Amino acid sequence: MLNLNSWVTPDRRNLILLNPDVLATVLRYVQIGSQDPEAGGILLGKVRAGNLEIIEATEPTRKDLRSRFFFIRHQNDHQKIVKQRWEDSEGQVRYLGEWHTHPEDFPSPSGTDLREWRVLAESRIDGRPLLAVIVGRKGLHVEYMHKDGRRVLLSHLLETCLSLV
Ligand SMILES: [Zn+2]
Repeated sequence: MLNLNSWVTPDRRNLILLNPDVLATVLRYVQIGSQDPEAGGILLGKVRAGNLEIIEATEPTRKDLRSRFFFIRHQNDHQKIVKQRWEDSEGQVRYLGEWHTHPEDFPSPSGTDLREWRVLAESRIDGRPLLAVIVGRKGLHVEYMHKDGRRVLLSHLLETCLSLV
């Protein structure tokens, strides 16, 4: 998988940069084997002038429920990490969204995903849209879910464009 670090909104105004460690973390959970369960966690990072820098993806904990076709987070453990990172960084690092895997090459969200993302977007204190990432076997799905249900799909930035930024 190439060029998966940088993502851009259709109007090319907002960038999302996935730190290499973040990509390495989520790609460890790609559902290659036929029995591999879904995995997921939360995304943490910084907001810089409307652009996002994702610096951490939490990994599944033992309390999460994982099966081939679903992943249910145990909220408390992930919430604790959010609070800790926020305090340690003096408000620089915050909760930005969610990631989970799908047993598909090029993943797309299920109806359940969309409903859940909407609820999460509505519950964000800072009013920002939720960043939602699905990790497939050959690609990622990256989108913003706004609290009014509006969706903005991001595409990955090609290397040729990257040199212009
Ligand atoms: Zn899903």
